[in-house]
Amino acid sequence: MAKIVNTVLGPVSSDALGKTYIHEHILFGYPGYQGDMTIAPFDWDGSLKLCIDVIKPLMDEYGLKTAVDATPNECGRDVLFMKAVSEATGLNIIPASGYYYEGEGAPAYFKQRAGMTDIIPDVLEIFRTETTKGIEGTDIKAGVFKVASSKGEITPYEEVFFKAAAKVSSEEGIPIITHTQEGTMGPEQADLLIAAGADPKRINIGHMGGSTDIQYHLEVLSKGVYISVDRCGLQGLVGCPWDNVRMMVIAALCAAGYADRIMLAHDCAIKWLGRPLPIPEEAFPLVENWNWRNVFENIVPGLKKLGVSDEQINLMLVENPKRFFGY
Ligand SMILES: [Zn+2]
Repeated sequence: MAKIVNTVLGPVSSDALGKTYIHEHILFGYPGYQGDMTIAPFDWDGSLKLCIDVIKPLMDEYGLKTAVDATPNECGRDVLFMKAVSEATGLNIIPASGYYYEGEGAPAYFKQRAGMTDIIPDVLEIFRTETTKGIEGTDIKAGVFKVASSKGEITPYEEVFFKAAAKVSSEEGIPIITHTQEGTMGPEQADLLIAAGADPKRINIGHMGGSTDIQYHLEVLSKGVYISVDRCGLQGLVGCPWDNVRMMVIAALCAAGYADRIMLAHDCAIKWLGRPLPIPEEAFPLVENWNWRNVFENIVPGLKKLGVSDEQINLMLVENPKRFFGY
């Protein structure tokens, strides 16, 4: 059944999402970038041109139609900039509401409050307001919740956001995407969200490409949730395997009958906030395919060579996001 999905340009039918990247970033800044704005201020016009130059050819050549911007609230999420990108390109952009994992997010704010009061009502208020009224004083509503946990554990701080997202998801039908650190804690994330009231069909466990263990993938899928292999192109870094291994895992899961539960993306920021990333030369091969073209240019052809059908690819890029947001 079709449902209305919140994009930065307003409501869009889930049937109209088309080819969708489930986890990307128009802008992303690790908390603390705000303190470096003297040296590296945000260049709106230059960044907008960069985004148009990346997105427009992908839409024209490969038919990309929608991207979920998974940027958490404290990592430079900017819905007015996303709106400008969407207006300039025609790309549907679905903004998120949520907080990043404790290690790389900005836990100081809510941890300080948590020492004095119960922060669950605060987070529920954010999630409800951002999905029903708007984000940061705009009328742009979040279309998805983004929650995140640490490597090998879901900390008490992180648990607050999981529980709040599950509760508001159950009230409003907004789906949830997650960040697993290096693919860990997938089953635990699913269990926590489901126990807190979320419907498994509205849960997508993210960064699962960080694991090459098929049994582990099957364990997560047994919860009834979707998974994302959403760091395509990021190879040999932050626990990521090389794309050729990643593709073997996807192909194996498709062969096992799970093509209707997998979604794809790169988790790639078009523009990093703050100074440009000082990537050392020896790391260039690890990130040379880490860009928004990689799924269409390398992953899809690679999967076909491994026996994945056009129909299965269409499930992962079109039908699964449509069902996820339309449920
Ligand atoms: Zn991300």
